Amino acid sequence: MTDCLFCKIAAGDIPAEKLYEDDEVLAFKDIAPQAPVHFLVIPKKHIVDPSDVSQEDEKLIGKLIRIGSQIAAENGVSDGFRIIFNNGAKAGQAVFHIHMHILGGKDRPWPM
Ligand code: AMP
Ligand code: ZN
Repeated sequence: MTDCLFCKIAAGDIPAEKLYEDDEVLAFKDIAPQAPVHFLVIPKKHIVDPSDVSQEDEKLIGKLIRIGSQIAAENGVSDGFRIIFNNGAKAGQAVFHIHMHILGGKDRPWPM
């Protein structure tokens, strides 16, 4: 999608601090971290939000969790991290390309 921030990051047109990349998935640090470890995992395919996930995307969305957990472990928070998908503006979604937040590095819930 042309007018989508995360499609542009996935295409390499806008820089990001990448943590992982393959042909389907990209992980990068959140620009405004809410926890000591805070990164986003996205599919390169433009999917709007969790409500937009189709049956054919199920494996891809599972992959976000697997890759995100691996990166959490690499960043020293395998013993405790939170996964968040915001769905819709009412829930605080600001970028309408599905993304999985991973937050870790402190003992208590985070402000999201
Ligand atoms: P959400 O509120 O769930 O849509 O989350 C969007 C997230 O994207 C926020 O946590 C932002 O800080 C983050 N974000 C926005 N622009 C960028 C960017 N250029 N690079 C990395 N993270 C970003
Ligand atoms: Zn997109």
